[in-house]
Amino acid sequence: MTARSSSLTFKLVLLGDGRVGKTSLVLQYVNNVFSDKQEATIQAAYLTKRLVIEGVPITLAVWDTAGQERFHALGPIYYRDADAALLVYDITNKDSFIRVRKWVNELQQMASKPIVMAIAANKSDLVRSKKFDLQEAESYAASIGAGFFVTSAKFGTGINEIFLHIATRVLQLK
Ligand code: GDP
Ligand code: MG
Repeated sequence: MTARSSSLTFKLVLLGDGRVGKTSLVLQYVNNVFSDKQEATIQAAYLTKRLVIEGVPITLAVWDTAGQERFHALGPIYYRDADAALLVYDITNKDSFIRVRKWVNELQQMASKPIVMAIAANKSDLVRSKKFDLQEAESYAASIGAGFFVTSAKFGTGINEIFLHIATRVLQLK
């Protein structure tokens, strides 16, 4: 890690299909709120969270979509200079997991530098038994060097952990 005079800001982009819980995850993380009626097209854009890792003050700038992921059209500005990506799928929606690969491919095409990745298997509160199959998702995450976390934006499960994991890994790259 090199010494820096200015404070560190990390750009984190949220990726994943519509309705998987991207906005809910970031609102739970930053504002500690959850809504069952989270609207698809509001609450777009940009939230920041300050944290301190190993004594280093960091601003995590989280970029959320405005719903345009439904048309798979995020555009280059969204990806520009991203340090990290949080890839979200809905654990009750297999298609949303299958499409994580497409988001990863797009990310890798758009990225100009190494990007820290983590995958959130979200909405874990909707699955009662713990038997749901995470094996495939876990091995996929490992194969692309991404962290893997089971989350619930509704109950706050795994949320601090995944954002802290991301920020810590970005810091290690700086
Ligand atoms: P986005 O389109 O990916 O940003 O998804 P949203 O955050 O807008 O969430 C879509 C819907 O799923 C909303 O009705 C949320 O309330 C709901 N939702 C999001 N995360 C969770 C979760 O962890 N558990 C449950 N039960 N519902 C969730
Ligand atoms: Mg959203």
